Amino acid sequence: MIYKRSSALFAEAKQYIPGGVNSPVRAFKAVGGDPIFVKKAKGAYLYDEDGNKLIDYIASWGPLILGHAYEPVINAIVEKAQKGTSFGMPTEIETDLAKLAVEMVPNIERIRFVNSGTEACMSAVRLARGYTGKDKIIKFSGCYHGHSDSFLIQAGSGAVTFGSPNSPGVTQGTAKDTLLAAYNNLDEVQNLVSANKGEIAAIILEPIAGNMGCIVPTDSFIKGLRELCDHEGILLVFDEVMTGFRLGKGGAQEVLGVKADIVTFGKVIGGGLPVGAFAANADIMGHLAPDGPVYQAGTLSGNPLAMSAGLAMLTELNTNPNIFKSLEEKTAYLHKGIATALESKGVTHQINRYGSMISVHFTDEPVVDFASSAKGNNDTFKKYFHGMLEQGVYLPPSAFESYFLNDALSYQDLDDTIAAVEKIAL
Ligand SMILES: *Cc1c(COP(=O)(O)O)cnc(C)c1O
Repeated sequence: MIYKRSSALFAEAKQYIPGGVNSPVRAFKAVGGDPIFVKKAKGAYLYDEDGNKLIDYIASWGPLILGHAYEPVINAIVEKAQKGTSFGMPTEIETDLAKLAVEMVPNIERIRFVNSGTEACMSAVRLARGYTGKDKIIKFSGCYHGHSDSFLIQAGSGAVTFGSPNSPGVTQGTAKDTLLAAYNNLDEVQNLVSANKGEIAAIILEPIAGNMGCIVPTDSFIKGLRELCDHEGILLVFDEVMTGFRLGKGGAQEVLGVKADIVTFGKVIGGGLPVGAFAANADIMGHLAPDGPVYQAGTLSGNPLAMSAGLAMLTELNTNPNIFKSLEEKTAYLHKGIATALESKGVTHQINRYGSMISVHFTDEPVVDFASSAKGNNDTFKKYFHGMLEQGVYLPPSAFESYFLNDALSYQDLDDTIAAVEKIAL
């Protein structure tokens, strides 16, 4: 395939935008080469500026669970735009989306909309601190919760890809309040809690991790965290920016059968427009301004265009929950096909999957946390990524990212993808 125009556009973008991109992982630093500029997309396919058609496995990093330019979502946005795009005043559609989210997700009573997953996680932690009157939080190596200061400590995907797990600009003072444990390691968490008795406001995690590849928590780990939090008066925060409305109507809380105290959302909840949200019971959310003292605000929060996209998306998922099952079946099919193709080539690998999230790791050890994920062979990954791209399949350009399947992918697309794996040299 030819990427001449993409490369030219990238060269020009670099003159005006740092690194030519507005979010680092787009830049292909981990895999080499120039990023591809998209012209348009429909369903499961991307069409780039050179006229190539690619099967898309990132779906804008998760939001587009029903495929690109999904008609009910697009229609809702267009209709809304004609009535004005922002008012800075309350609108009915904010309540419509809030009501639907509260109906779909177990264990939440109030939800506040923001503009990104970063904002949602940042605000959730502020709320947890305000509610408990404690300062420290525990996060897990390789979990990504957006780019706010408290979280840029071993932050997975983008931050790891660029070799700056602790970004310059994050103060020592902030970093000291973020304690770090290995995913799936309850002992480490217990030790941190004992060593910081009475000082921890929240434990935050991706309940199914997607930013160090796809990593599933063991039952004893996730249930152990819940028990520990109950015992110690710590709030358990599920960052469901990726898993929310992707793994099922009720997200990870539902599929894992574990309740969180605060849940954050992003990606799917905005239907492809910039939306984040955080939610909890009425008591916890009552601490938020204007009802309570914990401040949080946003000029464009609850923006009518964004709300209309989110509402159209969640309405589709709520009325047709078979989508989750169909996506899971497609992902299982892809899993089997890729595994068989790699085995027949004799390529050492692990495939992790949960629902419609899947990741391929070129290592012989099970991938259960950040350290084991980081052992993947990046040279093989690069060959795999570029080989697949050459065959017209767009995978995440970093070994630390999961693929996000969308329901527009047909079994023919999956077969084409598996055939591509069979063809490439690794
Ligand atoms: C993408 C992501 C975020 C950050 O969301 P943005 O909208 O990019 O700010 C936070 N947490 C998780 C788990 C994510 O996958």
